[in-house]
Amino acid sequence: MQLSKKAEGFSYQSFAQHNFRMIPQVSNLSDEQIRDIEIVSQVLPFKSNNYVVDQLINWNKVPDDPIYTLTFPRKEMLTDEHYQLMRKTMDAGASKDEIKKVAHAIRLQLNPHPAGQLEHNVPMIDDHKLAGMQHKYRETVLFFPSQGQTCHAYCSFCFRWPQFVGMDEWKFAMRETELLIKYLQEHTEVTDLLFTGGDPMIMKNKIFSTYIDALLEADIPNLQTIRIGTKVLGYWPYKFISDDDADDTLRTFEKIVKSGKNLAIMAHFNHPVELSTEAVKTAIKRVLQTGAQIRTQSPVMRNINADPDIWAAMWRQQVNLNCIPYYMFVARDTGAQHYFKVPLVEAWDIFRKAYQQVSGVCRTVRGPSMSAMPGKIQVLGIGETGGKKIMTLRFLQGRNPDWAARPFFAEYDDQAVWLTDLKPAFGDKQFFFEEELNLY
Ligand SMILES: *Cc1c(COP(=O)(O)O)cnc(C)c1O
Ligand code: SF4
Repeated sequence: MQLSKKAEGFSYQSFAQHNFRMIPQVSNLSDEQIRDIEIVSQVLPFKSNNYVVDQLINWNKVPDDPIYTLTFPRKEMLTDEHYQLMRKTMDAGASKDEIKKVAHAIRLQLNPHPAGQLEHNVPMIDDHKLAGMQHKYRETVLFFPSQGQTCHAYCSFCFRWPQFVGMDEWKFAMRETELLIKYLQEHTEVTDLLFTGGDPMIMKNKIFSTYIDALLEADIPNLQTIRIGTKVLGYWPYKFISDDDADDTLRTFEKIVKSGKNLAIMAHFNHPVELSTEAVKTAIKRVLQTGAQIRTQSPVMRNINADPDIWAAMWRQQVNLNCIPYYMFVARDTGAQHYFKVPLVEAWDIFRKAYQQVSGVCRTVRGPSMSAMPGKIQVLGIGETGGKKIMTLRFLQGRNPDWAARPFFAEYDDQAVWLTDLKPAFGDKQFFFEEELNLY
């Protein structure tokens, strides 16, 4: 198959905490804003690149611009207490080490490991913990290739932030492809392997294809779908256009499809502007030409996309580009969640009002969904019974597969932002899954 012509190159420039002042547009920020970036980025990781800065952010709208908010730290992303603590530390001329210590203490208070991700889902093989994998839902194994644990830019709401700041020291990461293959062979219930990170598409094809070649060679009949969770289409579409390994990466995709497996790119887009550049449109086309599917997902977040019109436009644009809307998530209870959080009732209202605006081809999307300890839980909606409002939820995925598709009910609470804020309806003592959950 002939891939479309190479588009114009764009050479990669990365910005982080230590060199963000080199971004020309930063000179338009006030001294106070620049200082705040310095203060907050001691705690929350910051990274951006010239595509995000030049083509996605509308600097005339800064600081309200959604992509600026998505990638640049600001004062409000820390609580006032944490912000003042770090500010005082820096103003007092503290050493690098002292600043690091304060940053670490603050980070420990930001719930670095929500939903028990470190302890609860790590699979075992021959008494050996597979630290680079998670197996929570029967059909799907998550794989964290060690070279894919960073990103082209960091999202300010990211729940993987502890691994970017060195708190997790790549605990998830592993190089042991053989163990992964062995695990998949022994666990014939697994149909899906999801490469995740960080962003696995930060890996050069030379490394990525080593994993894929080994998997395809092993010829595992139960493995039917290979998924790649990535933000690269949003943050660096040149990965599929003009990077050194662009064509080779696409050839690896083709190889997966030719082997008879489904290749699903789980693309992370937070705002329609990420779907508007020539580069992203070209990149999507080139990926689809390999026979891969692109499915899309994003959390719903205050100050970025908490508006039904934004979601309707995003889903419509995705479908126009032949991508399949998949999940709307609720932002996790970690990091700067207080700045981004949207109560569950409001998240559902945004979902409903967006869903109502689009046709069935966009309604492949499900949400709003919380990736919580017991499973992926969707807020189905608010109903009324006996003159009383009630919240209906259901499992999209359950730690116990038997929970999937089961509805359950919670007392109406328009302030609740997470499952743990909800109380069972009808005077029940606990939700139906709680007793069993305690066993995990
Ligand atoms: C979301 C998720 C999956 C995949 O779930 P699907 O509903 O099949 O997309 C697998 N494992 C974990 C831990 C997840 O959070
Ligand atoms: S792209 Fe994903 S993993 Fe990377 S910073 Fe954003 S949310 Fe986190």
